[in-house]
Amino acid sequence: AAKRAGRNAYAVFDPTMTLSVLEEAQQRADIEHALEHDEFRVLYQPVVDMNTQELTAVEALVRWQHPRDGLLGPYHFIAGAEANGLIVPLGRWVLREACAQLARWRAETPAAAGLHVNVNLSARQFQYAGLVDDVAAALADAGLDAASLTLEITESMLMADIETAKDTLHALRRLGVRLAIDDFGTGYSSLSYLKQLPVDVIKIDKTFVDEVHIDEDDVALVDAVAGLGAALKMKTVAEGIETDEQWATLRRIGIDHGQGYLFGRPSEPEGILGMLSVTTVS
Ligand code: C2E
Ligand code: MG
Ligand code: MG
Ligand code: MG
Repeated sequence: AAKRAGRNAYAVFDPTMTLSVLEEAQQRADIEHALEHDEFRVLYQPVVDMNTQELTAVEALVRWQHPRDGLLGPYHFIAGAEANGLIVPLGRWVLREACAQLARWRAETPAAAGLHVNVNLSARQFQYAGLVDDVAAALADAGLDAASLTLEITESMLMADIETAKDTLHALRRLGVRLAIDDFGTGYSSLSYLKQLPVDVIKIDKTFVDEVHIDEDDVALVDAVAGLGAALKMKTVAEGIETDEQWATLRRIGIDHGQGYLFGRPSEPEGILGMLSVTTVS
């Protein structure tokens, strides 16, 4: 049946969808097998300086090179891994791989000296008591300075348990890593909480970018976030920039960094190395 279903066998795991006990067990076994057999990959998407378009960072984005179904994006397995707990070892693997890859780029070219890497954390990973030790170990094993790593978390992860979240963020901050709020604007974080949190970067969700070049309401919202970033001394990144018009508008508003297909799709490490060879990251 799985073979006949093909790609659909891994169709988006909607967390509200009820999987049978059997399906859940199968999914768990599949992900475990994939971890053991090295089927996960990390692609890296450029984050650029809004004015110069120079590469400043890359975001690590996980993929599953499935032996039968081909290259699967995170929507096919992250929610499932989150539900069965395997997100903790999978997330640890992504973190270690991303740190190791940044170290490899640095060994390959002096142009990568100032390059940063962003890694997404899931809710369960963020709540996991061993997270801070995992991050410290990943950095140490890669021989990487903590300031080169930015961890991305979402508003809902912070708001679920604000006191514990604050402690975790401060512990990560003490290590020296940077912290970013991902998909900003889609959650419900309050301004008073944001002020108390040791956050360095706000990533403005793509939904505010899509029509920013034609919709004055989006301009006003993005402008407000730019003001918030300036007031709280946080850098701003706009996600999902696809056109020159969007770029020009966001640049005029004063957003610091951009990410999107206009600057580069998620790519293999070699693609990033190619980009590095034409610009020097400082
Ligand atoms: P995200 O962290 O917000 O990452 C940005 C997503 O937007 C990526 O999708 C990226 O490929 C896509 N994107 C970037 N620029 C554009 C653009 O110009 N146009 C369009 N249409 N899309 C663009 P991707 O790689 O499918 O990842 C989806 C989400 O899965 C991520 O959203 C993140 O929440 C999650 N994710 C990815 N990798 C990991 C991981 O290692 N761990 C965890 N916990 N979550 C991950
Ligand atoms: Mg992200
Ligand atoms: Mg995002
Ligand atoms: Mg997003």
